[in-house]
This record gives sequence, structure tokens and C-alpha cells, in this order.
Amino acid sequence: MADFAIAPAPVPTVPVEGEAAAFPVRRILCVGQNYAAHRREMGGDDRKPPFFFTKPADAVVPPGRDPAYPSRTANLHHEIELVVAVGRPGRDVAPEQALDLVFGYAVGVDLTRRDLQAAAKEAGRPWDAAKGFDDSAPVSAIRRWSGAPPQGRIALSVNGQTRQDGQLSDMIWNVAEIVAEASRLWALAPGDLIFTGTPEGVGPLVRGDRVEGEVEGVGKLSFTVA
Ligand code: MN
Repeated sequence: MADFAIAPAPVPTVPVEGEAAAFPVRRILCVGQNYAAHRREMGGDDRKPPFFFTKPADAVVPPGRDPAYPSRTANLHHEIELVVAVGRPGRDVAPEQALDLVFGYAVGVDLTRRDLQAAAKEAGRPWDAAKGFDDSAPVSAIRRWSGAPPQGRIALSVNGQTRQDGQLSDMIWNVAEIVAEASRLWALAPGDLIFTGTPEGVGPLVRGDRVEGEVEGVGKLSFTVA
């Protein structure tokens, strides 16, 4: 094994609930417009299926650290999401086998530079600067899980006021379908995180805002915008 010419970047990690060993993050995939009411509030087309975009692995913010307010935006938005942690490799898996790849679930917030996203949409340009910036993926500890995916409420409050309050059952693609679809586009591998989309009620954050997110049965995530 050759030496590195420069020090390699550290592996981003997320804790596993109740365990000393952490989950190493390999890649972050995200589903866009996976809840009909959110697709409408974004001006999306009701006839078009959800789609994927990505964030770099080092965008992850583990619990206990506060994300920095990003540069070059005047409209940072919160999107509360159920996050799938992949624990087994798979490609071209059928929805019926997709849940076998799941290591566990976490609560995540897909932070978004909404103004840059709107400009990118307008110009037909990529979303990387709108979605894949530093500290754009706060994630809770991962809860190990097997069998049927979480059900119930997904909600987010800012400074104690509820902003998003949805149901996981309102997802257009369910967890099995998301994992299957992703595995047709990428060879999934242990360490991949998949953000599964957000319900309606997204809105702006400013420095100092206290954000608290919860997914029923999965856990809670809280941070202050630094
Ligand atoms: Mn999102």
C-alpha cells in the first residue's frame, strides 16, 4: 500500500444508538419531492416521480455539533427527513429484497440554500451548491432496525414552534422502493445514507434558531444554527 501524498481526509461518522462503534458515512443520496404536499409547495409537477440528488459524505453533522450558517445564501431552509442507513451492498435489488440492505434509521435535516436552488432551477443548472454544501446534513444517532420500516409522525419545530408535521405514510416512494430505485442508479454499499424526502412546511432558518426534529420510533435530532 502506497503512502499518501497528503494526509487522507478523516472518515465522517454518525453514532449508532447505544453502541460505542460509529457508522462510517460513505455517501449521501437524497430523494427530492417524495411527499405530494411538499412537491406542490415547491411548484413541482404532480405527474413526475421523485428523483435523486446527492450530498458529499463530509456534509454530515453528527449529533452534538451545530451546523454553521452557510455562505452565499439569504434563505437557508430546513427539511426534516427519515434517513436510511445502508448496511449491506446491493445493486438492482427488487423492492421485495430492498429492506435486507437496511442497517437502521436516523432523523436528518436536509439543509438547503433555497435561493440558490431556485436560481439553479431557473437556469436548468445542477443543485450541488444549493444542496451539497458544508454542514448541510445534520443527522441523529442511527437506530438499528430490521423488518418493516418506521411508521408514524415526522415533525420539525423551530424555537418551539411546529413548522413541519407529516406522516411517513405520505411518502410517494416508500423505503423499499427508494432503496430499490437507488440500487438501479448506484451500487449501494455499507455506509451509504439515503435521505427520503420531506413533508410540507419547509421554511427559513436564521443564525441562533433552535431546530428540533423527530421521527416517531426512530429518534430526535436537535441543533442550533451557528
Ligand atoms: Mn430534501
